[in-house]
Amino acid sequence: MTVDPDLPERYDRALASLRGLSVGDALGSQFSVPANYAALKSGGLPTAPWRWTDDTEMATSVVAGLVVHGRIDQDALAMSFAEHHDVSRGYGANVDRMLRAIRHEGRDWRELAAGFFNGQGSWGNGAAMRIAPLGAWYAGDPEQATHQAEISAYTTHQHREAVVGTMAVAAAAALVADPQGPKAPAELLTAVMELVPRSAVQAGLRRASDMLDYADVGTVAAVLGCGRRTSAHDTVPFALWAVARHLDDYERAFWSTARAGGDVDTTCAIVGGVLAARPSGAPPAEWERRTEPLPGWLPRSPAGEGRAGAARRDAGVR
Ligand SMILES: [Mg+2]
Repeated sequence: MTVDPDLPERYDRALASLRGLSVGDALGSQFSVPANYAALKSGGLPTAPWRWTDDTEMATSVVAGLVVHGRIDQDALAMSFAEHHDVSRGYGANVDRMLRAIRHEGRDWRELAAGFFNGQGSWGNGAAMRIAPLGAWYAGDPEQATHQAEISAYTTHQHREAVVGTMAVAAAAALVADPQGPKAPAELLTAVMELVPRSAVQAGLRRASDMLDYADVGTVAAVLGCGRRTSAHDTVPFALWAVARHLDDYERAFWSTARAGGDVDTTCAIVGGVLAARPSGAPPAEWERRTEPLPGWLPRSPAGEGRAGAARRDAGVR
Protein backbone atom coordinates (compact mmCIF):
# COMPACT_ATOMS: atom_id res chain seq x y z
CA MET A 1 0.00 0.00 0.00
CA THR A 2 1.38 3.41 -0.93
CA VAL A 3 1.32 5.98 1.80
CA ASP A 4 0.05 9.42 0.77
CA PRO A 5 3.02 11.73 1.53
CA ASP A 6 0.60 14.65 2.03
CA LEU A 7 -1.39 12.82 4.67
CA PRO A 8 -0.15 14.76 7.75
CA GLU A 9 -0.90 18.10 6.08
CA ARG A 10 -4.28 16.93 4.81
CA TYR A 11 -5.16 15.78 8.29
CA ASP A 12 -4.07 19.06 9.91
CA ARG A 13 -6.12 21.12 7.48
CA ALA A 14 -9.20 18.93 7.84
CA LEU A 15 -8.89 19.04 11.61
CA ALA A 16 -8.53 22.84 11.63
CA SER A 17 -11.60 23.10 9.42
CA LEU A 18 -13.51 20.69 11.66
CA ARG A 19 -12.66 22.84 14.67
CA GLY A 20 -13.85 25.95 12.86
CA LEU A 21 -17.02 24.08 11.93
CA SER A 22 -17.65 22.93 15.49
CA VAL A 23 -17.15 26.42 16.94
CA GLY A 24 -19.61 27.87 14.40
CA ASP A 25 -22.07 25.05 15.06
CA ALA A 26 -21.79 25.23 18.86
CA LEU A 27 -21.86 29.03 19.20
CA GLY A 28 -24.48 29.32 16.48
CA SER A 29 -26.78 26.90 18.26
CA GLN A 30 -26.48 29.00 21.43
CA PHE A 31 -28.45 31.67 19.61
CA SER A 32 -31.49 29.52 19.13
CA VAL A 33 -31.97 29.91 22.91
CA PRO A 34 -34.11 33.01 23.67
CA ALA A 35 -32.02 33.81 26.79
CA ASN A 36 -29.06 34.50 24.48
CA TYR A 37 -30.80 36.85 22.03
CA ALA A 38 -29.37 39.93 23.79
CA ALA A 39 -25.84 38.53 23.51
CA LEU A 40 -26.38 37.99 19.79
CA LYS A 41 -27.24 41.67 19.33
CA SER A 42 -24.37 42.98 21.44
CA GLY A 43 -21.75 40.47 20.30
CA GLY A 44 -21.43 39.06 23.82
CA LEU A 45 -20.38 35.48 24.41
CA PRO A 46 -22.71 33.02 26.14
CA THR A 47 -21.28 31.07 29.07
CA ALA A 48 -19.35 27.88 28.31
CA PRO A 49 -19.50 25.09 27.43
CA TRP A 50 -21.01 25.51 24.01
CA ARG A 51 -22.33 22.15 22.93
CA TRP A 52 -22.03 21.23 19.26
CA THR A 53 -24.84 19.54 17.32
CA ASP A 54 -25.39 17.07 14.45
CA ASP A 55 -23.30 19.22 12.08
CA THR A 56 -20.13 18.48 14.06
CA GLU A 57 -21.02 14.86 14.79
CA MET A 58 -21.51 14.06 11.09
CA ALA A 59 -18.49 16.12 9.98
CA THR A 60 -16.36 14.07 12.38
CA SER A 61 -17.50 10.92 10.56
CA VAL A 62 -16.45 12.51 7.25
CA VAL A 63 -12.95 13.27 8.57
CA ALA A 64 -12.66 9.86 10.26
CA GLY A 65 -13.56 8.19 6.96
CA LEU A 66 -10.91 10.15 5.07
CA VAL A 67 -8.28 9.20 7.63
CA VAL A 68 -9.08 5.49 7.38
CA HIS A 69 -9.89 5.15 3.65
CA GLY A 70 -8.14 8.16 2.07
CA ARG A 71 -11.36 8.97 0.17
CA ILE A 72 -15.11 8.68 0.68
CA ASP A 73 -16.31 5.10 1.18
CA GLN A 74 -20.11 5.41 1.18
CA ASP A 75 -20.86 2.25 3.17
CA ALA A 76 -18.30 3.08 5.84
CA LEU A 77 -19.54 6.69 6.02
CA ALA A 78 -23.19 5.70 6.42
CA MET A 79 -22.21 3.16 9.06
CA SER A 80 -20.18 5.76 10.96
CA PHE A 81 -23.11 8.21 10.86
CA ALA A 82 -25.34 5.48 12.29
CA GLU A 83 -22.89 4.23 14.92
CA HIS A 84 -22.18 7.70 16.30
CA HIS A 85 -25.72 9.05 16.01
CA ASP A 86 -26.63 10.76 19.27
CA VAL A 87 -30.31 11.64 19.22
CA SER A 88 -29.73 14.60 21.57
CA ARG A 89 -27.66 16.44 18.92
CA GLY A 90 -30.58 17.97 17.05
CA TYR A 91 -30.83 15.81 13.93
CA GLY A 92 -33.69 16.35 11.51
CA ALA A 93 -36.53 13.87 11.93
CA ASN A 94 -35.86 11.95 8.69
CA VAL A 95 -32.13 11.48 9.24
CA ASP A 96 -32.88 10.56 12.84
CA ARG A 97 -35.19 7.74 11.73
CA MET A 98 -32.85 6.67 8.98
CA LEU A 99 -29.80 6.34 11.22
CA ARG A 100 -31.77 4.38 13.81
CA ALA A 101 -33.01 2.01 11.12
CA ILE A 102 -29.46 1.41 9.87
CA ARG A 103 -28.10 0.85 13.34
CA HIS A 104 -30.87 -1.14 14.96
CA GLU A 105 -32.56 -2.90 12.03
CA GLY A 106 -29.59 -3.37 9.70
CA ARG A 107 -31.35 -1.48 6.90
CA ASP A 108 -29.48 -0.30 3.80
CA TRP A 109 -28.75 3.43 3.46
CA ARG A 110 -29.27 3.21 -0.31
CA GLU A 111 -32.87 2.22 0.01
CA LEU A 112 -33.60 4.62 2.88
CA ALA A 113 -31.93 7.72 1.38
CA ALA A 114 -33.52 7.09 -2.01
CA GLY A 115 -36.95 6.77 -0.45
CA PHE A 116 -37.15 10.20 1.18
CA PHE A 117 -39.89 12.54 -0.07
CA ASN A 118 -41.64 9.98 -2.29
CA GLY A 119 -38.45 8.97 -4.01
CA GLN A 120 -37.15 12.46 -4.76
CA GLY A 121 -34.55 12.33 -2.00
CA SER A 122 -33.97 15.05 0.57
CA TRP A 123 -32.86 18.51 -0.55
CA GLY A 124 -32.03 19.47 3.03
CA ASN A 125 -28.78 21.19 3.99
CA GLY A 126 -27.57 18.22 6.10
CA ALA A 127 -24.99 16.94 3.61
CA ALA A 128 -23.55 20.43 2.96
CA MET A 129 -23.28 21.23 6.67
CA ARG A 130 -20.74 18.44 7.29
CA ILE A 131 -18.48 18.70 4.26
CA ALA A 132 -16.11 21.68 4.66
CA PRO A 133 -13.31 19.57 6.25
CA LEU A 134 -13.32 17.35 3.16
CA GLY A 135 -12.62 20.43 1.04
CA ALA A 136 -9.74 21.28 3.37
CA TRP A 137 -8.42 17.73 2.93
CA TYR A 138 -8.34 18.26 -0.85
CA ALA A 139 -6.83 21.78 -0.73
CA GLY A 140 -5.85 22.94 -4.20
CA ASP A 141 -7.76 20.09 -5.89
CA PRO A 142 -11.33 21.41 -5.95
CA GLU A 143 -12.31 18.95 -8.72
CA GLN A 144 -11.53 15.98 -6.46
CA ALA A 145 -13.18 17.77 -3.54
CA THR A 146 -16.43 18.22 -5.47
CA HIS A 147 -16.28 14.61 -6.72
CA GLN A 148 -15.81 13.14 -3.24
CA ALA A 149 -18.40 15.54 -1.79
CA GLU A 150 -20.94 14.38 -4.36
CA ILE A 151 -20.36 10.75 -3.40
CA SER A 152 -20.66 11.59 0.30
CA ALA A 153 -23.97 13.42 -0.10
CA TYR A 154 -25.83 10.41 -1.55
CA THR A 155 -25.54 8.49 1.71
CA THR A 156 -28.28 10.70 3.17
CA HIS A 157 -29.32 13.41 0.68
CA GLN A 158 -30.05 12.38 -2.90
CA HIS A 159 -31.95 15.35 -4.33
CA ARG A 160 -29.86 17.21 -6.90
CA GLU A 161 -29.92 20.48 -4.93
CA ALA A 162 -28.60 18.84 -1.76
CA VAL A 163 -25.84 17.13 -3.75
CA VAL A 164 -24.83 20.32 -5.56
CA GLY A 165 -24.92 22.30 -2.31
CA THR A 166 -22.52 19.77 -0.81
CA MET A 167 -20.22 20.03 -3.82
CA ALA A 168 -20.24 23.83 -3.61
CA VAL A 169 -19.21 23.93 0.06
CA ALA A 170 -16.42 21.40 -0.52
CA ALA A 171 -15.20 23.34 -3.56
CA ALA A 172 -15.15 26.57 -1.55
CA ALA A 173 -13.13 24.97 1.24
CA ALA A 174 -10.64 23.41 -1.21
CA LEU A 175 -10.15 26.82 -2.84
CA VAL A 176 -9.88 28.72 0.46
CA ALA A 177 -7.38 26.19 1.81
CA ASP A 178 -5.15 26.61 -1.26
CA PRO A 179 -2.47 29.30 -0.78
CA GLN A 180 -2.59 29.77 -4.58
CA GLY A 181 -6.40 29.91 -4.59
CA PRO A 182 -8.66 32.87 -5.43
CA LYS A 183 -7.89 36.01 -3.44
CA ALA A 184 -10.91 38.23 -4.13
CA PRO A 185 -14.50 37.48 -2.97
CA ALA A 186 -15.98 37.53 -6.49
CA GLU A 187 -13.17 35.30 -7.78
CA LEU A 188 -13.95 32.70 -5.11
CA LEU A 189 -17.68 32.57 -5.87
CA THR A 190 -17.05 32.44 -9.63
CA ALA A 191 -14.63 29.54 -9.16
CA VAL A 192 -17.20 27.65 -7.07
CA MET A 193 -19.96 28.29 -9.64
CA GLU A 194 -17.74 26.87 -12.39
CA LEU A 195 -17.22 23.67 -10.39
CA VAL A 196 -20.89 22.82 -9.87
CA PRO A 197 -23.65 21.87 -12.32
CA ARG A 198 -26.62 24.02 -13.23
CA SER A 199 -29.01 24.09 -10.30
CA ALA A 200 -30.88 26.38 -7.93
CA VAL A 201 -27.74 26.35 -5.76
CA GLN A 202 -25.67 27.63 -8.67
CA ALA A 203 -28.30 30.29 -9.48
CA GLY A 204 -28.21 31.32 -5.83
CA LEU A 205 -24.43 31.61 -5.97
CA ARG A 206 -24.75 33.90 -8.99
CA ARG A 207 -27.17 36.09 -7.03
CA ALA A 208 -24.81 35.95 -4.03
CA SER A 209 -21.99 37.15 -6.25
CA ASP A 210 -24.16 40.07 -7.46
CA MET A 211 -24.71 41.05 -3.83
CA LEU A 212 -21.12 41.02 -2.60
CA ASP A 213 -21.19 44.82 -2.28
CA TYR A 214 -24.28 44.73 -0.02
CA ALA A 215 -23.36 45.47 3.58
CA ASP A 216 -26.87 44.82 4.94
CA VAL A 217 -26.90 41.14 5.79
CA GLY A 218 -30.65 41.19 6.47
CA THR A 219 -31.40 42.16 2.87
CA VAL A 220 -29.00 39.56 1.52
CA ALA A 221 -30.53 36.86 3.72
CA ALA A 222 -34.02 37.89 2.61
CA VAL A 223 -33.03 37.43 -1.04
CA LEU A 224 -30.78 34.34 -0.80
CA GLY A 225 -32.42 32.64 2.19
CA CYS A 226 -30.51 31.74 5.35
CA GLY A 227 -31.67 28.21 6.02
CA ARG A 228 -35.19 28.96 7.25
CA ARG A 229 -36.46 26.16 5.00
CA THR A 230 -33.34 24.07 5.82
CA SER A 231 -32.89 23.39 2.11
CA ALA A 232 -29.48 23.31 0.45
CA HIS A 233 -30.45 26.12 -1.92
CA ASP A 234 -31.69 28.45 0.82
CA THR A 235 -28.55 27.77 2.90
CA VAL A 236 -25.41 27.33 0.79
CA PRO A 237 -25.46 30.53 -1.37
CA PHE A 238 -25.90 32.70 1.72
CA ALA A 239 -23.20 30.87 3.71
CA LEU A 240 -20.71 31.19 0.85
CA TRP A 241 -21.64 34.86 0.44
CA ALA A 242 -20.65 35.34 4.11
CA VAL A 243 -17.41 33.40 3.54
CA ALA A 244 -16.49 35.51 0.51
CA ARG A 245 -17.33 38.79 2.27
CA HIS A 246 -15.21 37.95 5.32
CA LEU A 247 -12.28 35.87 4.10
CA ASP A 248 -9.68 35.62 6.89
CA ASP A 249 -11.99 37.15 9.50
CA TYR A 250 -13.77 34.34 11.36
CA GLU A 251 -15.22 36.61 14.03
CA ARG A 252 -16.91 39.09 11.70
CA ALA A 253 -18.10 36.31 9.43
CA PHE A 254 -19.69 34.55 12.38
CA TRP A 255 -21.62 37.56 13.69
CA SER A 256 -22.77 38.55 10.25
CA THR A 257 -24.04 35.02 9.58
CA ALA A 258 -25.61 34.47 13.00
CA ARG A 259 -27.48 37.79 13.02
CA ALA A 260 -29.25 36.90 9.81
CA GLY A 261 -31.10 34.17 11.75
CA GLY A 262 -32.49 31.07 10.07
CA ASP A 263 -30.74 27.72 10.54
CA VAL A 264 -27.95 29.40 12.50
CA ASP A 265 -25.96 26.41 13.73
CA THR A 266 -25.75 25.09 10.18
CA THR A 267 -25.02 28.37 8.36
CA CYS A 268 -22.32 29.12 10.97
CA ALA A 269 -20.94 25.56 10.75
CA ILE A 270 -20.52 25.93 6.99
CA VAL A 271 -19.00 29.41 7.24
CA GLY A 272 -16.70 28.39 10.11
CA GLY A 273 -15.59 25.16 8.44
CA VAL A 274 -14.74 26.85 5.14
CA LEU A 275 -12.93 29.83 6.65
CA ALA A 276 -10.89 27.70 9.07
CA ALA A 277 -9.62 25.60 6.15
CA ARG A 278 -6.64 27.98 6.17
CA PRO A 279 -4.78 29.25 9.24
CA SER A 280 -5.76 32.92 8.79
CA GLY A 281 -9.42 31.95 9.06
CA ALA A 282 -9.20 30.15 12.41
CA PRO A 283 -11.74 31.00 15.13
CA PRO A 284 -10.64 33.13 18.11
CA ALA A 285 -8.80 30.98 20.68
CA GLU A 286 -11.28 31.95 23.41
CA TRP A 287 -14.16 30.69 21.28
CA GLU A 288 -12.36 27.38 20.80
CA ARG A 289 -11.84 27.10 24.53
CA ARG A 290 -15.55 27.59 25.21
CA THR A 291 -16.58 24.99 22.64
CA GLU A 292 -17.09 21.38 23.68
CA PRO A 293 -14.09 19.27 22.58
CA LEU A 294 -14.44 17.27 19.38
CA PRO A 295 -15.72 13.68 19.72
CA GLY A 296 -13.13 11.44 21.36
CA TRP A 297 -13.53 8.80 18.64
CA LEU A 298 -11.98 11.02 15.95
CA PRO A 299 -8.90 9.05 14.86
CA ARG A 300 -5.46 10.58 14.78
CA SER A 301 -3.73 10.65 11.43
CA PRO A 302 -2.19 7.19 10.79
CA ALA A 303 0.91 9.01 9.50
CA GLY A 304 1.13 11.10 12.66
CA GLU A 305 0.13 14.71 12.89
CA GLY A 306 1.79 17.28 10.66
CA ARG A 307 3.82 20.29 11.64
CA ALA A 308 0.85 22.55 12.32
CA GLY A 309 -0.77 19.98 14.59
CA ALA A 310 2.40 19.50 16.61
CA ALA A 311 2.81 23.29 16.94
CA ARG A 312 -0.78 23.65 18.11
CA ARG A 313 -0.34 20.90 20.65
CA ASP A 314 2.86 22.49 21.92
CA ALA A 315 1.01 25.78 22.26
CA GLY A 316 -1.57 24.03 24.42
CA VAL A 317 -4.46 24.44 22.00
CA ARG A 318 -6.81 21.47 21.86
MG1 LIG B 1 -27.28 21.22 13.88
